[in-house]
Amino acid sequence: MSHSASPCRQLTGNKLVLASHNAGKLVEIRELVQPLGIEVVSATELDLPEPEETGTTFEANAKLKALAAAIATGLPALSDDSGLAVDALDGDPGIYSARWAGPDKDFAQAMRNIQEKLVTKGASQSAQRGAQFVCTLCLAWPDGHTDCFTGIIRGELVWPPRGLSGFGYDPMFQPEGHDTTFGEMTPQQKHGADDQNQAGLSHRSRAFALFQKNCIQSR
Ligand code: IMP
Repeated sequence: MSHSASPCRQLTGNKLVLASHNAGKLVEIRELVQPLGIEVVSATELDLPEPEETGTTFEANAKLKALAAAIATGLPALSDDSGLAVDALDGDPGIYSARWAGPDKDFAQAMRNIQEKLVTKGASQSAQRGAQFVCTLCLAWPDGHTDCFTGIIRGELVWPPRGLSGFGYDPMFQPEGHDTTFGEMTPQQKHGADDQNQAGLSHRSRAFALFQKNCIQSR
């Protein structure tokens, strides 16, 4: 897990734009922000255009999405760029995780696609099926200031997919030390803090814990 090296700008106001149009992410980020008592409004609700993701890293894409929303609204904006990086596929689909599902956002097909590539590589044992979810959250301001935070969770890819919770690749991803996939977990199990994971289990909750620690100390 990592975050910007320089001191982070504090979020002292009470309003935050969530710079995302992804329904699954919006549900999860709202659940994480809610306890902080910050009023959030999403890019979808504001009908903001979706900027083209032209970056080549999670951080670059997170920055461009957050800046576009902050500049368009005059408010601080929090974006999320995330994805699934599969070891045996040299980190694919990575920043292209959403695009692998095509225009119809067909994640059953995207998961089949990954499985087929793993089969082609002969990756049938769990040790050959390692992967990680990565999430970079970026808080951007209308004057161009940004602070970014990255969370990672490692696990293995199971086949067939299991569970109907969450979104995207969740049914295929079994986090390390667990025998259930994200798709079989409740939101509390995926994101909530427990004795073993103070920052929660998921890549998103881990990035969020860094964001909270560095940008909203006063709350
Ligand atoms: P982007 O950040 O908008 O480029 O899209 C990220 C994509 O990564 C999502 O559409 C999902 O397919 C995948 N992804 C990111 N986080 C998760 C997660 O928590 N569960 C399942 N899939 C995820």
